[in-house]
Amino acid sequence: MPKKEVKITKKIESKCKYIFVVGGVISGVGKGVAASSIGRILSDRDLRVTSIKIDPYINIDAGTMNPTEHGEVFVLDDGDETDQDMGNYERFLDVDLERANYMTTGRVYESVIRKERNLEYNGKCVEVVPHIPLEVIRRIEEARDKANAEVVIIEVGGTVGEYQNMLFLEAARMMKIKNDKGVFFVMVSYLPIPSKVGEMKTKPTQYAVRTLNASGIQPDIIIARSQLPLDDRRKEKISMFCNINQGHIISAPDVDNIYDIPLNFEKEGLSNIICEAMDIKCISNTNEDAKRWAKFVKSTHSYKDTLNIAIVGKYFNTGDFTLSDSYLSVIEAVKYSAYTSGVKPILTWISSMDFEKDPKSINKLSGYDGIIVPGGFGERGVEGIIKVIEYARENNIPYFGLCYGMQLLVIEYARNVLKLKDANTREVNPNAKSIIIDIMEDQKEKIEKKKLGGSMRLGAYIAHLKKGSVAMKAYKTDVISERHRHRYEVNNAYREALEKAGLVFSGVSPDGKLCEIAELPDTKHPFFLGTQFHPEFKARPLSPHPLFTAFIKSCIKNKSK
Ligand code: GLN
Repeated sequence: MPKKEVKITKKIESKCKYIFVVGGVISGVGKGVAASSIGRILSDRDLRVTSIKIDPYINIDAGTMNPTEHGEVFVLDDGDETDQDMGNYERFLDVDLERANYMTTGRVYESVIRKERNLEYNGKCVEVVPHIPLEVIRRIEEARDKANAEVVIIEVGGTVGEYQNMLFLEAARMMKIKNDKGVFFVMVSYLPIPSKVGEMKTKPTQYAVRTLNASGIQPDIIIARSQLPLDDRRKEKISMFCNINQGHIISAPDVDNIYDIPLNFEKEGLSNIICEAMDIKCISNTNEDAKRWAKFVKSTHSYKDTLNIAIVGKYFNTGDFTLSDSYLSVIEAVKYSAYTSGVKPILTWISSMDFEKDPKSINKLSGYDGIIVPGGFGERGVEGIIKVIEYARENNIPYFGLCYGMQLLVIEYARNVLKLKDANTREVNPNAKSIIIDIMEDQKEKIEKKKLGGSMRLGAYIAHLKKGSVAMKAYKTDVISERHRHRYEVNNAYREALEKAGLVFSGVSPDGKLCEIAELPDTKHPFFLGTQFHPEFKARPLSPHPLFTAFIKSCIKNKSK
């Protein structure tokens, strides 16, 4: 996939600019997407932008957090397990981020305590203030330097007034004192419209601004999230009571499509407002990427047809909302490939456990143009998933398995084609006779010693592709790099037998020992492919993922049959 080159142009005379994005009133109103969109519109003006996410948790990374509560664990090239907002930044900015771009309270304290043990504070008493905020600032500067950034956007997790993010706001305040024009605050606030009142209310935003003021910070811009656009009366009120120039209050009504947001911000002149207020010198017009972005957004509104895609997993007691957050990158990856192929994807979440309870209900899958099984852990729902894969294989429905979805594909093939009836993964049944998917050698000790945080096989690894395979035809190259997050792998003891039975391991690690892609040739099935890695982490609006695109194209063909 084409990577965006880091352009070394010196458009800015002054030093780097820092934009802090904080939340007011309530969480979950799109602070991450707002921060990503600000990044997009500034990089569309040829500025080198990098983004940082601050998560106020004690956790060292997001890898130990439950995705149905906290959202997807987004894996970076360097293997860092981060918050789903990091995925939004990568997708909106079309850049690869690194560990330095993600910060948690746990990380900050861990390094301060380590430095103290190494006598790096020269005998001083190490205090929460200033040493914690100073470490926060050091990390922000590290991310800036690594990206050679002209603008750093820093999203502070949570909402203002929470105890947990106070030290991060203190770091921001300290930066502002030293660099007035270089540090800027955007508050993403929420304006409710109570149903019985029928009027948009500004008071919660006024309180949120005062709470931020109590941390010594005055917002420069308010992004006013609401169901409806902001009217002039509301802008006047916020301006008057929050001490903000009326032109710096940006209306951000609900949208169906998050990719419209950068364009909506620009309708309000946001990049001009930021550049003028912060004295940023940049090109006055937007660049080629901006045109490509607009073209992509247009495709999301001008599709000719729809596709019905089933996403099958062990879903259990979770509503649609949390599910779509847990698999955010998968959903977005499907969208990019679908829209740029002229179709709108309609995704249905299907619990594999339904098929365990009622095996006949599997026939309802015939109504779908394609099936995806995303990543997962544990034994729940696995038997149902294997039934689904069998159904997709036998009924020529395009099937795309991601990580666990690939491992279970191989097990299905071993059971039903190789006739190894008790084929399984050690993760589910360590006593099975045919362990087709086994624990990776270096993972055994980690599990035994309970070294579980950040210890999976993580991040980008290279794979070599087989000539003529479905994978290679999609990628149009024979060497790829993709991101991983797993502990188990295909057991090589069964590889030859599986290959003899027709399964193709079309992607393998450079030493040939690790199976990265399993597929059936396109002469045998329209699309039956699984990846040990997570291709969804590298799909971008401006560069849809080749495997998702190949899957979508086969779904389109399947539908037209
Ligand atoms: N549970 C499997 C493993 O650890 C698959 C992981 C995943 O789907 N991310 O290998």
